[in-house]
Amino acid sequence: MTDWVAEEHRYVFQNYGRQPVVIERGEGTRAWDVDGNEYLDFVGGIAVNTLGHANPVVANAIAEQARTLIHTSNLFYTKPMIELAKLLVENSCLDRAFFCNSGTEAVEGAIKLARRWGHDTRNGAYEIITTVDSFHGRSLGALAATGNARYQEPFGPQLPGFVHVPWNDLEAIKAATSGQTVAVMIEPIQGEGGVNMPGDGYLRGVRDWCDERGLLLILDEVQTGVGRTGSLWAYEQEGIEPDIMTLAKGLAGGVPIGAVLAREEIAAHLVKGDHGSTFGGNALAAAAGFATLNYIVENDVPAQVRRASGLLMSRLRSMEDRLGVVNEVRGRGLLVAVGLTRDCSAEVVDQCRKRGLLVNNVRPNAIRLMPPLNVRDDEIGRACDILEEAIAAATGTPAK
Ligand SMILES: *Cc1c(COP(=O)(O)O)cnc(C)c1O
Repeated sequence: MTDWVAEEHRYVFQNYGRQPVVIERGEGTRAWDVDGNEYLDFVGGIAVNTLGHANPVVANAIAEQARTLIHTSNLFYTKPMIELAKLLVENSCLDRAFFCNSGTEAVEGAIKLARRWGHDTRNGAYEIITTVDSFHGRSLGALAATGNARYQEPFGPQLPGFVHVPWNDLEAIKAATSGQTVAVMIEPIQGEGGVNMPGDGYLRGVRDWCDERGLLLILDEVQTGVGRTGSLWAYEQEGIEPDIMTLAKGLAGGVPIGAVLAREEIAAHLVKGDHGSTFGGNALAAAAGFATLNYIVENDVPAQVRRASGLLMSRLRSMEDRLGVVNEVRGRGLLVAVGLTRDCSAEVVDQCRKRGLLVNNVRPNAIRLMPPLNVRDDEIGRACDILEEAIAAATGTPAK
């Protein structure tokens, strides 16, 4: 039998720290490896598999579109892309969509759009304020925006024009604002940074400051969007609206896609020839996006997320009483992290996997859970049972 891990080590760049499991097949929240072992998948492709593995709604849309038309380039109009743009606009506060293929590219597009707007309307202002521990992607523009020196340092010099301020610190944003500032870019909840929640009123305060100073508010909803936090977009729960929003991860149920949404007056500044992508808005990806988002809207999946979240959070919080090593449960909807008092998350991940649960150690002291939005109650119960056993086994923590 082929040793897939050995083959990967032989032929593939070694830039990922992968869990030692070769996943072959999935259905809903479950996945099977090449040896036939079954897992509950609470990684969900990193908040990508919104409707679970092999969902017929998504799979049929992909299959039908593949038999009809996969790709044309943006030299032509195609129906799926236009339909997806209309669906996004009609279900958000924004007026127009641009499509690309990943979160990084969406961020890159948003940066260019903000700079273009600053060039045209604000005397060439170009600086963008972002937060420490943010994650916006790995291309050189998105990397410069990302507030994490570890990702940046080996790839210097960084693209200029970004200022990083501490998360949850409105005064720091105010102090960092200069005549060159064009925008503030922020994740409604810091995802890769560890599922870090915004303080009450923080995002409202950032919105007000942007209005006062004529800055654009860019919300990076690559991870929080498409129902993940219990509303279609995370901004809805903060009582604010962005000027520009970036989307990717969950938008097409697992097919690579990215999108930039913007208000009309801002989108108008990107004119013919300014920006583009060969694959962006590709008929196959757009059809998958339409099928996914349309299902979420028509079936009020965010309401299901809120219900499931209540169950998941209360099960996890009950662990705080039993396991001394669990000191915090944070997140919103089905973007959740379990904080640990020590750096043992890698061992917890291993112990979970041995018991049939896939989770992600987003920080050395935090486990992140991002199951499909249609995860069932019994699956949440089983996952919490396994997680509790795994934490106890990994840490040798006696019950409190
Ligand atoms: C994952 C992520 C990105 C980057 O998306 P890729 O598709 O990996 O390029 C950007 N911003 C946020 C908030 C993310 O979570």
